Amino acid sequence: MGHRHHVDPAELEPLADYRRRVLSGLSPLTPIQTALSEAHGSVLAEDVAAPGDIPPFANSAMDGYAVAASTVTAGEPLHVVGEIAAGAAERPSPGPGQAVRIMTGAPLPAGVDAIVPVELVDERGHEVVLNIQPAAGENVRDAGESVRAGETVLTAGRPLGAAEIGMLAAMGVGRVLVHPRPRVAVLATGDELIEPGKPLRPGQIHESNSYLLAAQVTEAGAIPFRQPIAVDDRASLKRAFRGALAQADLLVTSGGVSAGRYDLSKQVLADMGDVSFSKVGMQPGMPQAFGTIDGVPVFGLPGNPVSAAVSFEVHVRPAIRRLQGRDDLNRPRLTARLAEGVRSPEHKVSFLRVTLEWAADGWAASTTGAQGSGILRSMVLADGLAEIPADRTSLDAGEQVVVHLLKEMA
Ligand code: AMP
Ligand code: MG
Repeated sequence: MGHRHHVDPAELEPLADYRRRVLSGLSPLTPIQTALSEAHGSVLAEDVAAPGDIPPFANSAMDGYAVAASTVTAGEPLHVVGEIAAGAAERPSPGPGQAVRIMTGAPLPAGVDAIVPVELVDERGHEVVLNIQPAAGENVRDAGESVRAGETVLTAGRPLGAAEIGMLAAMGVGRVLVHPRPRVAVLATGDELIEPGKPLRPGQIHESNSYLLAAQVTEAGAIPFRQPIAVDDRASLKRAFRGALAQADLLVTSGGVSAGRYDLSKQVLADMGDVSFSKVGMQPGMPQAFGTIDGVPVFGLPGNPVSAAVSFEVHVRPAIRRLQGRDDLNRPRLTARLAEGVRSPEHKVSFLRVTLEWAADGWAASTTGAQGSGILRSMVLADGLAEIPADRTSLDAGEQVVVHLLKEMA
């Protein structure tokens, strides 16, 4: 089970203070002009107004026959005097008692105000008989009915998902000003770490944090690049950090920020730039390093895989989203009732890995079992992180908790 931490509460920086400090040190990446084909997943850095009406001209919503409604009568044969396909420049106009065959998306000819769908007519050679009496406006899409010229359709700060990309294309906008997706270097440190796929020698473990964190970076909407494992000596760490910083908007390291003899990352990071170390009032993830080196923000996360993953959720993910220019920094949250009593350390906000189940009276949260910060399995099982406030050391079954969702809940 758990172990006791002897931490002087005066040494702890409250979680909310630390989060505020981190976020206040970050601003959105400088916007760049991007081809629309490259813009998916980035965040709009300008308002975009429609250059023209959408649709740009009145057109047919159906395959059928274009008529002037007041000049035709159901049941009486009409002479078909032409045809208009989508994209046609020629638009033959029907006179009274006449019709023009028209396809979906084809421009309406002059004088026409209704389309009778092909399913509601009898076609007889060069004539057509309407089975219904059309009314003006039927099956016609008016110019500008979707968007009016000059209307602001998307505003700065808007993440560009599939619908937004489609909308920009429909407006004829081929390039947009966006905050680029941050490039995030991910670097694991530790003498004991071996690449997955390679055999372990005594005392070694497979390196998982850089894979885990890189995947979290992708899920946060940024571009990760994993760096080779760095070993625990000052020169190697310095070289590794330098190399990673060269091409990064953000550097995330794991390991070496605790109190051990070989926890050198925090010292090297502090030597290289304006990086400070904190004991943050949270569990898991108390030891944290944050700052900048040559203007690049850097997070030094603790090495225990769950600590690294939770630290990423609580600190790095909001930071990435701030760099992206997004307003929605946090995961969606919901409240749930605890299905069991839980304990929580003094003076710390704790994040419990929980599964969620929809019950008759709302969501019920159950812990995923052993919550040790090395037990990555608890993350695999988790639907979310239940936040237990710093001033509570135990909660009973049935009490309400806030849960930060890690997955989409159906
Ligand atoms: P540290 O923060 O470097 O003291 O590491 C704390 C614990 O996390 C130790 O048990 C490490 O072996 C483990 N650990 C550190 N980095 C990684 C990593 N990249 N992958 C898996 N385990 C790690
Ligand atoms: Mg280590």
